[in-house]
Amino acid sequence: MVADDAQSGLYDGFEAYRTVTDADYRNLLTSGAIVPDTNVFLNLYRYNERTRNDLFAVLRGFGDRLWVPRQVMIEFWRNRETVLLDPRDTDKTAKQMAGHREDAISTFRSWANRVGLPGRRINELEAVLSKAFSVVIDGVGELADSDASQFASDTGKDPVLAGLEPILKGRVGQGLDEDAYKQALEEAKRRAERKRPPGYKDVGRPGDYLIWAETLREAKLRGLDVLIVTGDVKEDWWRQEHGQQRGPRPELAEEMRSFAGTRLFMLRPESLLRHARDILRVEVRDESVQDIERVSEAENGGWTTEAVGQFLARLTHEGWTAQEQAIRIAALRGGFVEREIVYSLGGYAEDRSLRGFTRPINRITREFRAQGIVPESAIDILVTEYGTKPDLPAGWTSGFTVPDVLVPLIRELHRDWRTRGLLEPDPDRLAIALEEFRGLGHDVDETARETDEYGRPQWRCRRCGSEFFLAGSGDRWVSPTGQAPCSRAEAS
Ligand SMILES: [Zn+2]
Repeated sequence: MVADDAQSGLYDGFEAYRTVTDADYRNLLTSGAIVPDTNVFLNLYRYNERTRNDLFAVLRGFGDRLWVPRQVMIEFWRNRETVLLDPRDTDKTAKQMAGHREDAISTFRSWANRVGLPGRRINELEAVLSKAFSVVIDGVGELADSDASQFASDTGKDPVLAGLEPILKGRVGQGLDEDAYKQALEEAKRRAERKRPPGYKDVGRPGDYLIWAETLREAKLRGLDVLIVTGDVKEDWWRQEHGQQRGPRPELAEEMRSFAGTRLFMLRPESLLRHARDILRVEVRDESVQDIERVSEAENGGWTTEAVGQFLARLTHEGWTAQEQAIRIAALRGGFVEREIVYSLGGYAEDRSLRGFTRPINRITREFRAQGIVPESAIDILVTEYGTKPDLPAGWTSGFTVPDVLVPLIRELHRDWRTRGLLEPDPDRLAIALEEFRGLGHDVDETARETDEYGRPQWRCRRCGSEFFLAGSGDRWVSPTGQAPCSRAEAS
């Protein structure tokens, strides 16, 4: 800023908040630099063929304004084979359905035995159930990407590579030189510590910052406005309002302005297709835009870390702390929380049913969908499991599951809590817990403290190995064995 003109106005330093006009997009798509993120290329494997071709046509339409950071190519090649293993989760879905068939049959069979249904009738109904699942599983299997495994081992047969090769000829950056690269790694670490965008969401993985550093340099070299295209919804890139991506984070726009003297814009791939269709007059089918939208939404089951955080805060705010804790603990334990833990969390009496436990969760999810915080297709956060445990009557809840795709999002929030010191136990609360646990005959004191694999403190009985940890609001302690007395306590 010039010293004799220190006054500034509404948008100075706040450019990123200004709504992007059609004229801006026209300028950008005809004379800016278009910079796709890794997921734009990886998702090509998840689209159908015609969508893929439409996106190729758009990328081709940009000509030499298309520019790809070297780091994006590094990540593309590194992750390509993983995506190819099961690009549309077909195998995974079929396997899950097969699991549900087993559950359904076992639930039905134990009920049938309890009421003494005649054997012939049991077999009859079981066959119907089994058949229905088989038809659906076969239907899912028909969509299997049988070609995909071939592409992985033979790049010559891969239609994505065949389409990309001519488009990317001469469009990939040289990458940072050795010194700049070292500096960038240092800077990435600093930003992760200070929570400065981009890249602080992937602590220990400097990829996002490397992409950013390369893009800044290229923008300065060519003096061009930059449009970053990414299907990623991470909050360290986007300015999010009510779960919607409005544009780049103001810090990033400001850094682009001060480093390169140019402007920064961001778009999701489906929006890029819409704008390109209007401005470049490239043929793009509506179905392609929808296909891309579907794939974007399906990522993380429709949830972002921010939306999950908002969701958990809402549960706490409404007083559903047992539900909030159950979700967190399930995620930290790899996705499942046992019924015993849920009883401890809620302080429920033994004869209480867990039916209705997920009711507030489902209600808030419906609201989030209606308000557009998550898409209509967003999956449920906590799913009731009906057990086949030997000591549990069929049809009873054995526990609750957080879907696989949501586990890393919740763990990410957990890391935040940990760095903010929220997980260090309150000494008074710990003293009460230790006393109660000892009251059950367990041999435990403060020094029996351990750290579980997620860095959470727990205390373990030296005799029987039962452990407890502190959770929930109030003075609650939680043990996977419930409030069971020590199995190895000496009779006194
Ligand atoms: Zn014990």
